[in-house]
Amino acid sequence: MIKPGSTIGVLGGGQLGRMMALAGRNMGYRFVTLDPTPDSPCGQVADRQIIAAFSDLQGASEFARSCDVVTYEFENVDAQVAAELETTSFVPQGSELLKITQNRIREKTTLHSFGIPVAPFEVITSEQELQEAVGKLGLPCVMKTATGGYDGKGQWVIRFMDQIPAAFADLNRTGAELIVEQFISFQKELSVIAARSTTGEVKAFPVAENIHIDNILHQTIVPARVSQDQAQKAEEIALRIASSLNVVGLIAVEMFLADDGQIIVNELAPRPHNSGHFTMEACVTSQFEQHIRAICGLPLGEVQMLSPVVMVNILGEHVEPVLERIQHLPTTAKLHLYGKKDSKIKRKMGHINFLAPTVEEALQQIDELDIWNKTEVTL
Ligand code: AMP
Repeated sequence: MIKPGSTIGVLGGGQLGRMMALAGRNMGYRFVTLDPTPDSPCGQVADRQIIAAFSDLQGASEFARSCDVVTYEFENVDAQVAAELETTSFVPQGSELLKITQNRIREKTTLHSFGIPVAPFEVITSEQELQEAVGKLGLPCVMKTATGGYDGKGQWVIRFMDQIPAAFADLNRTGAELIVEQFISFQKELSVIAARSTTGEVKAFPVAENIHIDNILHQTIVPARVSQDQAQKAEEIALRIASSLNVVGLIAVEMFLADDGQIIVNELAPRPHNSGHFTMEACVTSQFEQHIRAICGLPLGEVQMLSPVVMVNILGEHVEPVLERIQHLPTTAKLHLYGKKDSKIKRKMGHINFLAPTVEEALQQIDELDIWNKTEVTL
């Protein structure tokens, strides 16, 4: 057990690391973060920031030597750096899970081998193979890079056969391996964040309903507006994944509730997740505290909800309107800003958790603020 007073190292200085450090400091842990950008969101609240590139082995070694336990806040950790961290410090999450979740092919193959439903998919290496895969999977289908994509980047929805040459040329240029998936016609996008500790204990937070705009998470609604049976199924899937993969820490499981009622897993993230920010005030334990408990071997905290909640993301274009209307925020709304200086359009700058007696009331409060329905962006 890593007890309070010990130092936790967070690889990556973004908002997820920041909120991890804020939760852990309350419990008495010390924090060191590594990030190339000075004054990073996590660096602002940690005891110390080491400024180095994520690929800098010397920086990684100094970082590892200064911590009792190491964790990360993004999954694209360089394999050599991960190995260096593992030889120099204690990395309870290991590098195996990173390897799986860094690559959609490995991720989907592994999930499929556990009997977890994923969208039917094919790996392709040429335009000819793409033609054949589309023939098998049918149209529409979704072509993705196996590595490096996020927020819908590195993706093409192929609706017509004549899009194939352009889609292949575009994504082939990235040099990444390519995958094509059947398009899942879904009612809702859901996610469940599960935790598994070094002792093997597992717990899952309540299922969340996610609304995306332009492939970026906009709102998380909890309780999700699904049946009890669907909620239970989603939570069971997340717990099964956490146990089958021997996760330590958190695993965020993004899923589709398909039109036919089936739950299909889309993607995993082995870390705190934007769709789990609702837990900060709406659950007995936040996802950040849970992550720390899990990697430090403390008993996992209770996950039950204290209040219905809607989380709304504050992107760069929303910062000014939010600050202008700050006095109109309901007094049960909890504002979180990440300390980023550059308010770039579409950049995640913060979020607000709207707590209310029902999610409908929370949604109405958000609507009345007139911040998110109005912000038009010309890119
Ligand atoms: P991803 O990067 O895999 O999370 O995909 C980004 C978004 O694209 C998802 O949140 C979905 O809205 C959509 N999407 C991805 N894969 C599929 C699929 N197989 N069928 C339907 N929509 C998808």
